[in-house]
Amino acid sequence: MIKDKFDAIVVGAGPSGNAAAYTMAKQGLKVLQLERGEYPGSKNVQGAILYADALEKIIPDFREDAPLERHVIEQRLWTMDDTSYVGMHYRSDDFNEENPNRYTIIRAQFDKWFSGKVREAGVVLLCETTVTELLRDPQGRVIGVRTDREGGTAFADIVILGEGVNGLVGQRSGLRPELKPDTVALAVKEMHFLPREVIESRFNLTGNEGVVIEAMGTITDGMTGTGFIYTNQESISIGIGCIVSDFAESGRTPYGLLEAFKRHPSVRPLLEGSECKEYAAHLIPEGGYNAMPQLFGDGWIVVGDAGQFVNAVHREGSNLAMTTGRIAGETVVWLKRRREVASEANLAEYQRRLEATFVMKDLRKYRRIPDFLHRNKQIFGTYPRLLTAAAQTWFRVDGVDKRAKEKQIFQAFRNGRSLPGLIGDAFKLARSWR
Ligand SMILES: Cc1cc2nc3c(=O)[nH]c(=O)nc-3n(C[C@H](O)[C@H](O)[C@H](O)COP(=O)(O)OP(=O)(O)OC[C@H]3O[C@@H](n4cnc5c(N)ncnc54)[C@H](O)[C@@H]3O)c2cc1C
Repeated sequence: MIKDKFDAIVVGAGPSGNAAAYTMAKQGLKVLQLERGEYPGSKNVQGAILYADALEKIIPDFREDAPLERHVIEQRLWTMDDTSYVGMHYRSDDFNEENPNRYTIIRAQFDKWFSGKVREAGVVLLCETTVTELLRDPQGRVIGVRTDREGGTAFADIVILGEGVNGLVGQRSGLRPELKPDTVALAVKEMHFLPREVIESRFNLTGNEGVVIEAMGTITDGMTGTGFIYTNQESISIGIGCIVSDFAESGRTPYGLLEAFKRHPSVRPLLEGSECKEYAAHLIPEGGYNAMPQLFGDGWIVVGDAGQFVNAVHREGSNLAMTTGRIAGETVVWLKRRREVASEANLAEYQRRLEATFVMKDLRKYRRIPDFLHRNKQIFGTYPRLLTAAAQTWFRVDGVDKRAKEKQIFQAFRNGRSLPGLIGDAFKLARSWR
C-alpha cells in the first residue's frame, strides 16, 4: 500500500486517534493514520459534550475555529418516575467566561475539524481503509498493520490503537478479550431540530448558552442506564442507554426506551414541534477500571474507548480519549528522542504517565461503581419512585399537617426498601464512591 516506513501508525480518527496523531506529528514524527469511515466522524456517535480542558492541552487556541454549538451554563440532574422528576439544577453566569469549560458539539463536524488540524500537522490520513490485523515480526513484536486495501500493508515502529469501543483489531490480535455484555452499554440518540429562538426560550438561554440534562430513574425500566438531553444551536440531542446484558434479560428495545423517554410529560414539551433528522446507536464501554485490558505491549499502545477509558458516572469519554491519545503520543515522542525502541518495557512509561492524570485517578476511584449499579437495580426503580412520591407528599397542600407528612414519607421509604435495606444501600454506595 504505502512503501515508506512510518514512525507510528494510528488506527482510527476519533478523538483518541486524532490526539495521538496530532501530538506526534507536531513533534516531527512521520505518522500514518487509517480510518475506516468515509471521512473522520462519519461513523462516530456522542451525546455530545466536549470538555475544553482536554482539547486545550492539545490545541490551545481551538476556540478560534472549532465547530462548537453552545457553551454549557446549566447542568440539570433529573431523578424520574413515570410522570414526574425530582431535579437538581446548577446554573451559573460564571460559565459565561471568556474560555468556557464545556460545549455541546456535533461529532461529525467536530471530528472533521480535528482531523483537518491533524492533517495540517503533517499526518498522512487514509479514509475508507479498515485495519484488519496487526503484523508481527518473528519475535512477536508488532511492526505494522494489514488493511482491506489491495496489497494493503503498512509498517511502523509503533501502532497506536484508537479504534473505539468495538476494537476488533486488538481483539482479533489477542491483545484484549471480547467485550462482556455486562460491561458495555448500548445507547441510542436522536437529533431534533427547532429554531434557535424556540430552544432558547424553552431552556431559558441567550446567545450561545446551553443546558445539559442528565436523567435516571424509571425511564430505563429497572435497567442500569441513563438518559440525556443536550441543547445545540438549532437542535436538541436526546438519548438513552443501558447495559447490554440488561437489554438481553428484559427483552426491552433501546428505541422503545427512547420513544417512552420522549413521551414523558417532562420531556415532551421540550421537543414539541421539532423535526427528528438523525438517529444513531453506539456502544459505550462502562466497565471502568476493572474492565481495562492490557494497555501496551511490544510495538503497540491502546488509547480511548478501546482501552475502556470512560468515566460512566460523570459521562466523560471524549476527554479521556483525547488525554490518553495525547499521552500515548508524548510517550512515543519521548522514546524517539532517547533513541529507544517501543518495547513493552519502555512503553510502561505510557502507563506511568497516565497514572499521574485524572484519567487513572478517576477510574480507580470509581472502580467499584459499575458492579454496585449492576447489583443494585433499586437505584433505577425503587428510589426514584420513593423520591418523587416524597416530593409530591411534601409539596401538595391538602390539610395534612407537616409532622404527619414527614411520618408518611419515612414510612413510605421503610415500606419501599426496609430499614436494613436503606442503611445497607447507603453504606454500599459510600463504599463504592470512595
Ligand atoms: C450516545 C453516546 C453519548 C456520549 N456522550 C458523551 C459526551 O457527552 N461526552 C463525552 O466526553 N463522551 C461521550 N461519549 C463517549 C465518547 O463518544 C467516546 O468516549 C469517544 O468517542 C471515544 O473516542 P475514541 O477515539 O476512543 O473512539 P471513537 O470516537 O469511537 O473513534 C474510533 C474511530 O476508529 C475508527 N475505526 C474503528 N475500527 C477501525 C479499523 N479497524 N480500521 C480503521 N478505523 C477504525 C472508527 O471509524 C472511528 O472513527 C458518548 C458516547 C455515546 C455512544
